[in-house]
Amino acid sequence: LRLNNNNLSELQYATVPTYDRTTLKHGIVHVGVGGFHRAHLAVYVDSMLEQLGLRDWSICGVGLQPFDADMKNALTPQDHLYTVIERSSAGTKARVIGSISDYLFAPDSSEAVIAKMAHSDTHIVSMTITESGYFYNENTHELEIEHPDIVYDLSGKGPPRTFFGYVYAALARRFKAGLKPFTVLSCDNMQKNGDITRNMLLTFVKHRDPEVAAWLAQHGAFPNSMVDRITPRTIEEDVQNLAEEFGVEDAWPVVTEPFMQWVIEDKFADGRPPFEKVGVQVVKEVEEVEQFELTKLRLLNASHSAMGYAGYLAGFQYIHEVIGNPHFHKYILNMMQEEVKPLLPRIPGVDIDEYCKTLISRFSNPAIKDELTRICLGGSGKLPQFIMPSIAEQIQAGGPLRRLTLCTAAWFCYLQGINEQGHEFPLSFDPMAAELQPLARAGGSDPMKLLGVKSLFGDDLRNDERFVTELTKAIESLKKEGALATISKYA
Ligand code: NAD
Repeated sequence: LRLNNNNLSELQYATVPTYDRTTLKHGIVHVGVGGFHRAHLAVYVDSMLEQLGLRDWSICGVGLQPFDADMKNALTPQDHLYTVIERSSAGTKARVIGSISDYLFAPDSSEAVIAKMAHSDTHIVSMTITESGYFYNENTHELEIEHPDIVYDLSGKGPPRTFFGYVYAALARRFKAGLKPFTVLSCDNMQKNGDITRNMLLTFVKHRDPEVAAWLAQHGAFPNSMVDRITPRTIEEDVQNLAEEFGVEDAWPVVTEPFMQWVIEDKFADGRPPFEKVGVQVVKEVEEVEQFELTKLRLLNASHSAMGYAGYLAGFQYIHEVIGNPHFHKYILNMMQEEVKPLLPRIPGVDIDEYCKTLISRFSNPAIKDELTRICLGGSGKLPQFIMPSIAEQIQAGGPLRRLTLCTAAWFCYLQGINEQGHEFPLSFDPMAAELQPLARAGGSDPMKLLGVKSLFGDDLRNDERFVTELTKAIESLKKEGALATISKYA
């Protein structure tokens, strides 16, 4: 049975949308409709449409990248419906999500995207555009104003290419029309994702039109948020399994875990739906979000990176295999407990040891098959956020940092792109790969060439003798003894 509006009532799934999808308004425009958005925000919105009968808050998806044509081609013939497959050791649950009710592919329809964002029905523009979509320089904390795509969008000579280009064009129209700005809601894994969004966007807009920038600075809203739900890339097997198990033809389902969490700062410019009624933690104080973000990024995401690069070098394919190895298990647990936990704030109501235990059990879920090639994507945007800040703080405190440093060493070795058998392997996509790989190769066991990339590491780390010595030792060990033996030594 093909997934579409007409066939909904015949599906064997436990949960399908029963609300009328034809009368929905787009209150949210979401840029970057990847796996994560479809397993997270779109699911919360689906619950609101279903349980609360809201009509004004459906989602119009937008893709900016050339490859997003695939998402448009998958979703359009099935009325933008898709299946979320929740997998755990307890079994599989399938649910159709109906909250995305249109999808615009920007390269073909840039005017339609700008008009949709500028429309008075749109109250929120949210996004999951990966770290690379923010053009954020980790070292200067400023917008990468010289990046060719930003230079092009600042020139205003043609249809925008970047998120900021689109958002500016739409906001300028709202300003002229006397509307409020929409809220810009980042759902990317970045600490202070709202603050970064605000700063990058305001810099961009100031260059285009200072008047619009002043209006946005005064009336705009950029909530910080912490997002969590492990969502691997969909593979062909998932599509086939769905067809076999449920008899449903869905071109692009999403596989995910049962766990989901979203903590948002309650700061909206033009209204918001009652997220808190469907399990979202909407909090008044920005510090609360920051504490959750910090805890999650430094424990979950850092552990992912620590398992990803070393695990890949050790020859594993999936996260559950890595954490199933007793040496890795001990290494990750001890890295969290001894090197990261002491740096984290105490959050009322959160038992940090319990949190770490839950993480280990989520990593161990064999049913979601989370591939290391996904975890290894975009390290240049991840390590500077998930690992390096903990190292920098341990340097300051004179505390333990060996295991965190080993993660950095594994990334440096991974960047060389040569496995333990001496064969070349392709790196998972990283926008800085062309710059970093030659440095990794030229450096060999000497980390100084890579540490010289200021936009990633600044000056402090490369000038710290203890860290550089530890890092050199760890790289040497990975190269001489191999990843598994090194992990067991550091565990
Ligand atoms: P995905 O590959 O399925 O989708 C990525 C989306 O981002 C695509 O639509 C792509 O077009 C868009 N994108 C990438 N670079 C862009 C750019 N420069 N400008 C505009 N759009 C761009 O990946 P995903 O699993 O959906 O993850 C996306 C993001 O969601 C992550 O980078 C992370 O910040 C966040 N996240 C993911 C997970 C997860 O488990 N997958 C968990 C928490 C948070």
